[in-house]
Amino acid sequence: MIGRMIPRAAGLMLISAAIAACSGAPRSSAASASSTDVGQFLARVNETMLKLGIAQNRAGWTQQTYINDDTEAMAARANQEYLDAITRFAKEATSFDRVNSSAEQRRQLTLLKVALVMATPSNPAESDELTKITARLESTYGKGKWCTDPSKPDSCKTIDDVTRIMATSRNERDLRAAWEGWHAIGPAMRRDYTRFVELSNTGAKELGFADTGAMWRAKYDMPPDAYTKELDRLWEQVRPLYLKLHAYARLKLRATYGDIVPASGPIPAHLLGNIWAQEWPNIYPLLAPATADAGFSLTDILKTRKASATDMVRIGERFYTSLGFDPLPKTFWERSLLVRPRDREVVCHASAWDIDFETDVRIKMCIEPTAEDFTTIHHELGHNMYQRAYKDQPVIFRDSANDGFHEAIGDTIALSVTPEYLVRINLLGKAPDASRDVGLLMMRALEKVAFLPFGLLIDQWRWKVFAGEVAPAQYNKAWWDLRLKYQGVAPPAPRGEEFFDPAAKYHVPDNTPYTRYFLADILQFQFHRALAKTAGCTLPLHRCSIYESKEAGRRLNAMLSMGQSRPWPDALEALTGEKQMDATAILDYFAPLSKWLDQQLEGKPIGW
Ligand SMILES: [Zn+2]
Repeated sequence: MIGRMIPRAAGLMLISAAIAACSGAPRSSAASASSTDVGQFLARVNETMLKLGIAQNRAGWTQQTYINDDTEAMAARANQEYLDAITRFAKEATSFDRVNSSAEQRRQLTLLKVALVMATPSNPAESDELTKITARLESTYGKGKWCTDPSKPDSCKTIDDVTRIMATSRNERDLRAAWEGWHAIGPAMRRDYTRFVELSNTGAKELGFADTGAMWRAKYDMPPDAYTKELDRLWEQVRPLYLKLHAYARLKLRATYGDIVPASGPIPAHLLGNIWAQEWPNIYPLLAPATADAGFSLTDILKTRKASATDMVRIGERFYTSLGFDPLPKTFWERSLLVRPRDREVVCHASAWDIDFETDVRIKMCIEPTAEDFTTIHHELGHNMYQRAYKDQPVIFRDSANDGFHEAIGDTIALSVTPEYLVRINLLGKAPDASRDVGLLMMRALEKVAFLPFGLLIDQWRWKVFAGEVAPAQYNKAWWDLRLKYQGVAPPAPRGEEFFDPAAKYHVPDNTPYTRYFLADILQFQFHRALAKTAGCTLPLHRCSIYESKEAGRRLNAMLSMGQSRPWPDALEALTGEKQMDATAILDYFAPLSKWLDQQLEGKPIGW
């Protein structure tokens, strides 16, 4: 089930940031500014960000829900105006480095300096070129299709079609054709991406960062080096569980597909039920424990009930209101895009928007009656609830504690979608007994545990690319080296530099940082463990649902309403009582599955 890999509105991402103890931003030489000036400056920044941010959101929403040359041009222009303003402010903020100011003002200044996902160069021609390239990359991806016969438009398959084939086919040749067909959209983006890296690095350097990747790493309330160590520590906590899951999946895929799956090497990337092998729930039927299948399918239930997109979103909304959150506003229902329109091109990739940074929240999704979309709805609504909870903060603070937090909230709620919960809302007649838990845990592990190395490696690749450690001539090789190292997967056939496979993944052409999804994956279990305790749940962690727990809702809201007004460890503490991220909640949650995997893998190879 997709969840974590969904970006929020583009506008918001530009102000998603957190403090860095040593961001590398330039020191000011002019110390003539006063603390009064700081207040005036920040008032101007907040006002401008709001005005330009709203304009950018409106243009972006229109472009993504109606792709054509005009909306593309308008969105590019609104993006550029917003980016130029933030870039100017970020540079200006450094002139207050040595001015006395309140803690709140200081935090706003620091956030501003690390606010950008992409800094445009001050040279207007370069700035213009960069914004055009980013709009073009997004559109190229959005219009991407697999055309088996390019002379016949009818033969072209959208990403939805390819996704469906990858999810349901068990024919190796068909899977390989679909996989290769989708990845053929990549090479057209290689030149733009290469130029994008150069230009965005120029902008980052002007802000005092070594490169764009260094700028991204400066956002986590800790020195960039400590941050990368923290990621390593978290990955090491969960890696043994991933290795077991990988070994078991390989064993079962080998039983299905034969020698094309090696007994002890990497798994072919096209056999895991997903275009990017980023999560594996679609191959669950091949891996299902013989005596512990859950015995029901939420997708089947939704289909049988003929659940509409609106029905499904209403169910998601009800979970949040059961915790004490206000219902979604009328405008949400009027303005959201919930199904794929038949008459125009749209970016169907699900996202949540906060158009006016206040109450005009929306989601954009092409919903189908599946368990996957059911979960994604909870994910997107989590963004909307967060956005509304921090709306009274100064504009600069209207974002999550760090970007992993924003992605984690809806997924935390989805962890409470237990069989007992489905029974309580009348979607399921009777919950399976505890002996079936291993089946449900397997399903969830294929989603959450399988995702972890993928969540980590996208930015490992980009950080090397931005830093110049990986030259354009090695883009594709470096990509597959990392996929092997972290995921233990390999392409169906060698992929030379005539390909550009990273661009076949949305977040690369869209330039959305990805480590947030890794963090979100870790955090959601930590949040779930804490909220389940608050709700008084004494069952094993995977059986707890916080549905209707006002007390859990209160704790959750205490954190959400802080926005990013405080460093993220404070926000983490408000919800969990802990200041450090901790992946052991994942191990707790999956403990019964881990034990079961040990039994299945006795004497079998682990690793690759
Ligand atoms: Zn998301």
